[in-house]
Amino acid sequence: MSLSTAISRLESLARLSDHPGHLIRSFLSPSSRQAADLLLSWIRDLGLQTSHAPDGTLRGILPGSNPSAPPLLLGSHYDTVIDAGKYDGPLGILSALAALESLAQQNITLPFPVHVLAFSDEEGTRFQTTYLGSRSILAQLDEKTLAATDANGITLASALASEGWHHNASLIHYPPHSTRGYVELHIEQGRVLEQLNQPASTVSAIAGQTRLAITLAGHADHAGTTPMPLRRDALTGAAECILSAESLARSHPPAVITVGKIAVHPGASNSIPQRADFTIDLRHPEDNERHALTTELQERFLSITDQRNLTLDWNLVQESPATPCDPTLTSHLLNSLQAITGHHTSLVSGAGHDGVALAPAMPIAMLFIRCRDGLSHHPDEYASPEDIDTGIQILTHFLKSFTP
Ligand SMILES: [Zn+2]
Repeated sequence: MSLSTAISRLESLARLSDHPGHLIRSFLSPSSRQAADLLLSWIRDLGLQTSHAPDGTLRGILPGSNPSAPPLLLGSHYDTVIDAGKYDGPLGILSALAALESLAQQNITLPFPVHVLAFSDEEGTRFQTTYLGSRSILAQLDEKTLAATDANGITLASALASEGWHHNASLIHYPPHSTRGYVELHIEQGRVLEQLNQPASTVSAIAGQTRLAITLAGHADHAGTTPMPLRRDALTGAAECILSAESLARSHPPAVITVGKIAVHPGASNSIPQRADFTIDLRHPEDNERHALTTELQERFLSITDQRNLTLDWNLVQESPATPCDPTLTSHLLNSLQAITGHHTSLVSGAGHDGVALAPAMPIAMLFIRCRDGLSHHPDEYASPEDIDTGIQILTHFLKSFTP
């Protein structure tokens, strides 16, 4: 497969959408099925044995010279967010196929099987359930996940039963420690590689996350009649907290803290804000650091609200631990990165990926490809053909030189 084939396949997939005006492929939708059929036909064209699970997970198997040896898994996801770009997900699947094609052209037979996996739900756009596909290949989904509902009130369990692709489906399952690992190529979704002027990097870890819902409460008074010293303004308190969160993150790289949402009550131009609700999204590749920063943040907020005579309501909404990439698998990938590009860069992934779900059961490694302006989850998402080609070359080199 030439590079131009991989690019034209990206374009073909991008035309398959649930909505005509923008790209969205949600879990088990008709366009998702069309994308799956197309992907399966391309995998079959490469001579791989194909199968699919009822949840839309696709698999292609290249047996290699020892079909009973533990396989190496390559892949990514083919679902998208709403108004998505073309590269997040599909690039990982198509570059894996391109690397296998390149090996075939060089008449190379690997001493172990390679399984190409394409997951039908990573983003969780329909059921707000991330990593559905990768979780499903390790274990049955738990009751809470199966009870999740979409915008129409349909549960995941009933969607799987009535909309699942049961015809000719087979179970795709990997017991713990039954593979050589999972390697995923993905766009960086950030600006670091662009700033370093490098086409690709490995990934050292996928950052852990803490999500908080914060409420500051004061008193709603008249904007004209309340002198400044008598005020208990929840919004100015929130402003001080938010700036303090920003300075905390700035002084502790690679920590990132974001306040993405804020609401003010009563929300009138002539009323002093009585309440301010805002969110905190705190990420760090090391869990003990993330915990320490969360504690420090809470102390800062308590001190600010004390001084301003406000009350602080601190709610933990969600917490997910950091996922380190496997050092051995990553060093193999790093050697290939260096061989192809001359660079030796490893980044932290601030965004989540299927490797988070797979890491408890197998070694994981990731290869990041530079994307323009760091833009992702957006129709202008773009990775250059040259960088995609570099990614395919790195994957090919990695497969050839990987001696587990
Ligand atoms: Zn993705």
